[in-house]
Amino acid sequence: MIRALFEAGADVFRLNMSHGSHDEIRERHTIIRQIEKDLDRPIAILADLQGPKLRCGVFSGDSEELVVGEPFRFDLDPAEGNARRVCLPHKEIFQALRPGATLLVNDGKIRLKVEECGADFAECTVMVGGTISNRKGVNVPDVVLPLAALSPKDRKDLEFVCELGVDWIALSFVQRPEDVLEARTLVRGRAAILSKIEKPAAVTDFAEILEVSDGIMVARGDLGVELPVQNVPPIQKRLVRACRAAAKPVIVATQMLESMIESPVPTRAEVSDVATAIYEGADAVMLSAESAAGAYPIEAVTTMNNVAEEVEHDPTYREVIEASRGASRPGVAGGIVAAAREIAETADIKVICCFTHSGTTAALTARERPRVPILALTPFAATARRLCLTWGIQCFFTGEVDRFKMAVVSAARAAREGGYATEQDQIVVTAGVPFNEPGTTNILRVAPCEERLIFRTDPE
Ligand code: PGA
Ligand code: MN
Repeated sequence: MIRALFEAGADVFRLNMSHGSHDEIRERHTIIRQIEKDLDRPIAILADLQGPKLRCGVFSGDSEELVVGEPFRFDLDPAEGNARRVCLPHKEIFQALRPGATLLVNDGKIRLKVEECGADFAECTVMVGGTISNRKGVNVPDVVLPLAALSPKDRKDLEFVCELGVDWIALSFVQRPEDVLEARTLVRGRAAILSKIEKPAAVTDFAEILEVSDGIMVARGDLGVELPVQNVPPIQKRLVRACRAAAKPVIVATQMLESMIESPVPTRAEVSDVATAIYEGADAVMLSAESAAGAYPIEAVTTMNNVAEEVEHDPTYREVIEASRGASRPGVAGGIVAAAREIAETADIKVICCFTHSGTTAALTARERPRVPILALTPFAATARRLCLTWGIQCFFTGEVDRFKMAVVSAARAAREGGYATEQDQIVVTAGVPFNEPGTTNILRVAPCEERLIFRTDPE
């Protein structure tokens, strides 16, 4: 199934650490890497850490009905709960709560207002009732919680996935830039770091969080619980735009094709939602339950892929995305990627081939949203895999390239073999000379796509 999903258009697979044992995660990881090897195409794996998700304790009768207007108490008493109270085993919350604050239970379905609180309790009134059951999730939208960004489970999971070899690590419920920096210290360069924006505090401090992150997820599921749902679309637009300006990949996630969990066809509204994210400039759109647990995973991926292709061929998309390109392209690399796009589009060139070490130049090229495909050529498997998340990039491994002439030859070869250009076409090649010095993109060449030398391309 994973192979079929890749062939249907998936570029990145998310391993959700909230579900499954380490053995199960390892098995999926092995399968993905095997497919990558079989098909000789890089595939990104994103490990999503659960983060400080709050949960209530258990009830003596497994569940209770909360009724509007009635009182209900959360406290630190580990005894089983009843219709009047339940344990909320997070003492930090009680310290941060204030009268008037809102507590949300079960994805926001139940809403309570704090009336009175102390170091170990909160007396609340039920504002919106419903069924509360064992270990339901609790959200506290109004306060920045003095919680560690990474729970002991997250720390164990982080080390496990880093050793396994994943390309991206997603951090859930990021609240402050320090949360990202803390994770970065633990990751030690073994993966890129993606911050999930799903707390109001993260929206407020978004600029600082983006600055220290390698990528962003607009995590609309929890964001729509913590904030009124109508606030989510404008936040999505703002975040997507900021990420493009920073040339960092952004994923729009959750409920994109929700009805396809049970239906082989999406609603028109869902199709429109996927299309909107792409019109706005998102790098990636994500499926959750649709592909993880739904009845129609292949149909869901195929739908997303079809919508993405359709939007990207729409003249309106070109207009919108080009108008929002932004004028400032500081630095030599910024100027070269802008020139590459302009030359490619005006001189009928079929493909931009970009030699990249860290992936930065490829991401800058993608930010331009050129009309022609971008081939990122890199000697590093880690760079090729990470770039799978970035808009419009096809990654190819090159062997070590140490002369520009060699680079042009191997770019032409990748372009021909990938079916992007023929011997009669010309390609644009960008690179940094001398080679093997990161951050030196300084050369642009228009070259014929001819076969002159044979180079082996090898993923390792
Ligand atoms: P989750 O994150 O699926 O891990 O909760 C995405 C979201 O909240 O939208
Ligand atoms: Mn979430």
